[in-house]
Amino acid sequence: MKNERMYNEFVELVTTDAISGQESAVADKLAAKLADIGFTVIRDNAGEHYGGDCGNVIGIREGELDGALFFSSHMDRVPNGFGIKPVETDGVLRSDGTTILAADDISGVCAILEGLRQAVASGKPLPRLEVVFTTAEETVFGSKFLDMSLIQSKLGYAFDSPGPTGRMNNGAPGLYDITVEIKGRPAHAGNEPEKGIDAAKIMCDMLSTLKQGRIDFESTANFPILSTGSTARNVVCDFASFRGEARSRNLQKLEDYMVYFKEHCTRVAEAAGAEISIDAFANFLPFYMGEEEEVMVIAKEACEAAGIPYFAQVGGGGMDANIFNAQGMKTIGVATGYTGNHTTTEQLVLEDFYKSGELAAQMIYAYAKRCSDK
Ligand SMILES: [Zn+2]
Repeated sequence: MKNERMYNEFVELVTTDAISGQESAVADKLAAKLADIGFTVIRDNAGEHYGGDCGNVIGIREGELDGALFFSSHMDRVPNGFGIKPVETDGVLRSDGTTILAADDISGVCAILEGLRQAVASGKPLPRLEVVFTTAEETVFGSKFLDMSLIQSKLGYAFDSPGPTGRMNNGAPGLYDITVEIKGRPAHAGNEPEKGIDAAKIMCDMLSTLKQGRIDFESTANFPILSTGSTARNVVCDFASFRGEARSRNLQKLEDYMVYFKEHCTRVAEAAGAEISIDAFANFLPFYMGEEEEVMVIAKEACEAAGIPYFAQVGGGGMDANIFNAQGMKTIGVATGYTGNHTTTEQLVLEDFYKSGELAAQMIYAYAKRCSDK
């Protein structure tokens, strides 16, 4: 059955232009909507950290019950999300084919707003509700700059995953962003090449003997960006660098790989007399929630109450849930009925989308029941 309120809100928000770092038009609307539902709204300065035009939008509603529950979705979208014209055919929304649809993640935003409205209107005693609409999820994770002292919840739902409503994204890999620089020594390539240290060759040796690609069923590594500073054919290459990533859903494996990677590259460089510097930072950490976790049990109960088929499935990308889990808040991704996100064939199954609003409300009730049973 059509939910006019969700449909209209979705169209309103996807036709409001946004891109990572420039979300203020969407943020202003969401701040006003949260205030209308009765939330206290705080806007942080996350954008200042990466040249964005706004920060995260945080909404808090004090509860009648002890306990706090957290919801998030992101306000930005990948490029090609300006001038979106949604077209409905047979219960499915798509763009007109020239842009993305931005159901990733406006459908998540709308599901949360709908769930909050339903829960508040129910008149039931509720826990403290904490909502964060994040910036720049598709690029730098504005959620990294969220002041977690505002957040009391230990459990959270990031409405930001593809697939049918009822799909819980209960795991995602962590990722190291890695840059290696090799310093060799220049020399005349014809007169005295033996006096040089060839950084280009060392880089190639390093990569050709490195374990990469598929490491195991849950770990990968990829180094596609190679460069040397050289412009001269007749000088031994004195500098080379490469950049890539390592991912695993298992933190120990990811850290083991990084130890291996550093040892391997250092050994190859030193054997050739070159200097090496390795810059690696954990862009986000992996997480995995087993079925026994409270955050999963509540999701399952909520699906049952809403008549939605529940299933759990791990994903392959990073998302705000990775950031929140790293801060100690157990968070899973929640699907809202879209597929093909990040492409012009992105689509949103409306029946699933409408159910995702009720799912958010049922999550609040399922959690509230636990609070009042305590
Ligand atoms: Zn997303």
